[in-house]
Amino acid sequence: MLNDSSTIVAISTAAGVGGIGIVRLSGSKAYSIAKNICQLDIQAHKVQFSTFKDFNGELIDKGIVLFFESPRSFTGEDIVEFQGHGGPIVLNLILNACIQFGAQIANPGDFTKRAYLNSKMDLAQAESVVDLINASTDVAAKSAINSLSGNFSIKINTLLENLIELRMYIEACLDFPEEEIDFITEGKVEDKLKKLSETIKEILLTAQQGQLLRDGINIVLIGQPNVGKSSLMNQLSCEDKVIVTDIPGTTRDPISSVISLEGIPVNIIDTAGLRETEDVVEKFGIDKTWASVSKAHIALFIVEASSGIGKYEEALIKQLPFTIKKIFIFNKIDLVQEKPRLEKNGDQVRVYISAKNGDGLSLLKNHMLSTIGKNQVSENSEGLFIARKRHVDALNVVGGALKSGLANLGAPELVAEELIIAQKGLSSITGEFSSDDLLGEIFSQFCIGK
Ligand code: GDP
Repeated sequence: MLNDSSTIVAISTAAGVGGIGIVRLSGSKAYSIAKNICQLDIQAHKVQFSTFKDFNGELIDKGIVLFFESPRSFTGEDIVEFQGHGGPIVLNLILNACIQFGAQIANPGDFTKRAYLNSKMDLAQAESVVDLINASTDVAAKSAINSLSGNFSIKINTLLENLIELRMYIEACLDFPEEEIDFITEGKVEDKLKKLSETIKEILLTAQQGQLLRDGINIVLIGQPNVGKSSLMNQLSCEDKVIVTDIPGTTRDPISSVISLEGIPVNIIDTAGLRETEDVVEKFGIDKTWASVSKAHIALFIVEASSGIGKYEEALIKQLPFTIKKIFIFNKIDLVQEKPRLEKNGDQVRVYISAKNGDGLSLLKNHMLSTIGKNQVSENSEGLFIARKRHVDALNVVGGALKSGLANLGAPELVAEELIIAQKGLSSITGEFSSDDLLGEIFSQFCIGK
């Protein structure tokens, strides 16, 4: 159990007005605080209607009180939820009553952090809680719930078990050389290492898809007026399953919009306003746009098929960072009787489309998806899980260690060392060996009350 005796409280429903609002308490004093507020014989795991009274015994609200007795709760501690009317003032009154009776205000992610520290979930699952809450496409949400259900962790743990088994075997061979288990020539270690490497490669591919689903990508749209930028955006956003809200932190820049490309959130930044200016306010907007442009993954240059790439586009190509992948879209092919197609001209990729009637759109979509590294794994959303850069980085470390293990088969002690590196990498994903700094960073991304 977590060695922190404080009882935390927070308003767990979103800020603003709603039909119902929830105040949540977790910790050893949760039950006694709730008894003071409800003045009722509160039963565990039962739905009870109650009055809620403040520190002075004055009525604040009426609603439902739920008591989840430890360990059968989200955090593993005693939890009480007050479900009252969803107004900010009334919820704050309930919150204040809890504080006056001895609770402390929770920090962002505190409830999930306690769930993790009390082994109710591992770190990858805890991370997927916030990823589920923040998911901006339905595929991202499905992948997050897959991770939260432990599907990603099961893969990691199974791999970890196999890895440890192999390590034990090698170490036993090193410890008892007189047994003369010649594992190298038997090929057993090599086979097992190869199998582990294959599995890591598969997981890494899926994790990369998961990271795309979580982080999305940025695309810059470049093109002169009337070349068909809006028409293309409309065509691309037909899927339209992106959820963009006004909640702080999720609002996008006014010059950008978000579409879903096979479930991947794609933030499209329009560079229409990127011109020289002396106006301070306008300049600020332009600087902001350039800052997002420099973080983009792909630049889409749209030109009319009849005129091709001109000075405007050439000037902008020079200003874009080298790292941004560039795709040239020759639009309005219906006006020049061209066929939809993809052409490679040296490094340059040209896609001929008609944003008006949709010709060539699937060619463009597929090319964009392969450019950002989406592969076939994600065809089946059942097998997907949400992932973060830190997972992908850790899996790369594991893959690298297994590779060097294979390259050093002649030196079993080196193989054993590589396996230790691989084991640590895998364990860092589920949080077995995680520093306080990492935990602080992960849980600070949560909202208060989760
Ligand atoms: P933007 O200013 O770059 O956003 O361009 P719009 O999307 O508003 O398009 C400008 C005009 O070109 C509109 O009248 C569109 O209907 C037309 N247009 C866009 N794409 C095509 C296309 O592929 N073929 C034809 N014939 N017209 C197009």
